[in-house]
Amino acid sequence: MKALIREDLHKIKLVEKPAPQIIDSRDAIVKVTLSSICTSDLHIINGAVPNAIKGTTLGHEFVGEIVELGSAVKNLSVGDRVSANCETFCGECYFCKHGFINNCTNGGWKLGCSIDGCQAEYVRVPFADTGLTKIPDSLSYENALFVGDILSSGYFGAELCEIKQGDTVAVIGCGPVGICTMQCARAMGAKKIIGIDINTSRLELVKNNGYADITINPDSQNVLSAVKEATDSRGADCVVEAAGGKDTFRTAWQIARPNAVVAIVAMYEENQILPLPQMYGKNLIFKTGGVDATHCAKLLKMIENKEISTDILISKYFDFKDIEKAYSYFADKNNNCLKIALKYD
Ligand SMILES: [Zn+2]
Ligand SMILES: [Zn+2]
Repeated sequence: MKALIREDLHKIKLVEKPAPQIIDSRDAIVKVTLSSICTSDLHIINGAVPNAIKGTTLGHEFVGEIVELGSAVKNLSVGDRVSANCETFCGECYFCKHGFINNCTNGGWKLGCSIDGCQAEYVRVPFADTGLTKIPDSLSYENALFVGDILSSGYFGAELCEIKQGDTVAVIGCGPVGICTMQCARAMGAKKIIGIDINTSRLELVKNNGYADITINPDSQNVLSAVKEATDSRGADCVVEAAGGKDTFRTAWQIARPNAVVAIVAMYEENQILPLPQMYGKNLIFKTGGVDATHCAKLLKMIENKEISTDILISKYFDFKDIEKAYSYFADKNNNCLKIALKYD
């Protein structure tokens, strides 16, 4: 079968690989029907992920059909249409039992990083009974494509904020994760959502689709005053930092009202400064996180109930055979691409 690998630093290649086989009783083999490219894939290619193994098939965001199952997987059947969790987790260790699957002692981010991922025709999914979720009949593969990664991350950001009915939630970063956070925040009861980004087309998109009620562009506006104006001078009740820019962490705690929750789901390339003397008395609650993606079934239900939708994130489709072109397109900032969907025959 065809599989996309990181051949070397900054170099990817579509190669021939043998189709995967069941090696553990909790495995499943999934025929990939749609997959996507994640910014983390770019991090791997650029050598920024220490655990990534050269030659591994890339990709961890996908949906497909189960074609083979290990004997211990009892909650799924061959032929099921499934959405995959970006994280591999056993469901049995201390962390899994507490819902902290990101720190599963037997798992973690493996697919497309240290074991062959989904940018291939078939993929072996370990711990398939925890990592795959059946897609409801009423939903298409497109509808479910982002459930296990981007949508889970967006939900996680909103969940960390402990949103209460009527809250004002500020979301820094109106990219795929920010868009998902806004929709989940709304579903959790947020009344006013403020979208912050320097990309004008993303600001327009979140405004025009009703994800954000107010948008702020730090390039042309004073973010602090704009947020104060929108919140009776208090500041936002909750802030989700999903941008990871040079000064977005500072913005996040500055625009928060006293006693707010500031949730950091962004990944930074540099250390950030937490100026405790300056923020003394503001009594903020900081939460950070790599997603504990434990709500896939619930998210599929929310999509089914039309509370949220990620269809808008697909900016462009490519055939899987053109995946190298798809990577260039996705990586080129001029294309203003939210997400790519790769189609398989
Ligand atoms: Zn990802
Ligand atoms: Zn575990």
